[in-house]
Amino acid sequence: MPTPMNHPVESLAQHHWVKIICGASYHDLPTIRNLCLTYALAGADCLDVSIDSAAVRAAYAGVVAAKNLQPNLHLPLLMVSVADGADSHFRKATFTAADCPSTCFRPCQAVCPTEAIQFQGLPLGVMAPNCYGCGRCVAVCPSQLITTYGVRPDPEDSLALVGPMVTALEIHTQVGNDAAFCELWQRLRPWLPQWRVVSISVTDDPQLESYLRFLAAVLLQDTDAVIWQTDGRSMSGDLGDGTTHAALRLGKKVLDWHLPVGAVQLAGGTNRVTAAKMRSQGWSSHGIAYGGYARTLVEPFLKDCGSGPLEAHPLLLRQAVSIARDLVDQFKKVHFKSVHSA
Ligand code: SF4
Ligand code: SF4
Repeated sequence: MPTPMNHPVESLAQHHWVKIICGASYHDLPTIRNLCLTYALAGADCLDVSIDSAAVRAAYAGVVAAKNLQPNLHLPLLMVSVADGADSHFRKATFTAADCPSTCFRPCQAVCPTEAIQFQGLPLGVMAPNCYGCGRCVAVCPSQLITTYGVRPDPEDSLALVGPMVTALEIHTQVGNDAAFCELWQRLRPWLPQWRVVSISVTDDPQLESYLRFLAAVLLQDTDAVIWQTDGRSMSGDLGDGTTHAALRLGKKVLDWHLPVGAVQLAGGTNRVTAAKMRSQGWSSHGIAYGGYARTLVEPFLKDCGSGPLEAHPLLLRQAVSIARDLVDQFKKVHFKSVHSA
């Protein structure tokens, strides 16, 4: 059965929207470009990147390269993420390598999923562009030398530079941020006509339902193209199959609230087992987002091509797209089958 090739926004209505998250604070430009190229060719509906203008340009270059290679491709939406307050997705780690005891066996380096920590060459310590703030190094440092700092570029500055390339927005918020959310939304509303969807990313909280109902009322004044991104266990999908339980639990909970607007899209802990487990539980979200797990799958091919364009290595590109497509199809085909056999 061929992979369904709907327009990205139709994919939401058909319950087979797949988004790939490059990372709200991830700035390794060659990797962003090649990741976007790979997953655009694999049929992803949306690519979510940092609002940093260089990251947006890199992602856009990847999408353009995909379109050149496959002219009939439905272009995925290019989404940028912003936050209305402190948020773990918008931070980076730092430490001074000279302070590390010579006897330390460097667990920080071993746990880093993006190889952002190095002890040879320059800079020593964290290579900031490669760090996306997962915090795993902070947790394992026996000397507690690693701290984090916030990374929140001014959205208006970035949109002024790259706004026309951006076709979707995501706002990370949390219960209690009512005023900050409204203030940010008012600032960003002028760009609304060019966004096909607005995604709201939230984590679980006892007051989440009433907060989402409040946000729905605010957003409905301007748009009904809303996605609720349910972030089950942030930035954890590559850690193991078990992380998917939190993603499924939160997604199902929000779906069952039947909010007055919005599609529900899982994130935070999604990986190779998520689509199958959802199907075995007999329900379906409108979409799913894969972050670290999606990157981990194709990383070997992206690494082998260095910092150049992946399409300059046709075999690597084919291999990367094949693996990426398997992931995208896991969700798309499951729901394509259920829709068409109903
Ligand atoms: S482990 Fe996570 S937070 Fe630490 S350097 Fe690597 S990406 Fe950054
Ligand atoms: S774990 Fe901590 S002390 Fe050890 S090398 Fe890493 S930052 Fe330095």
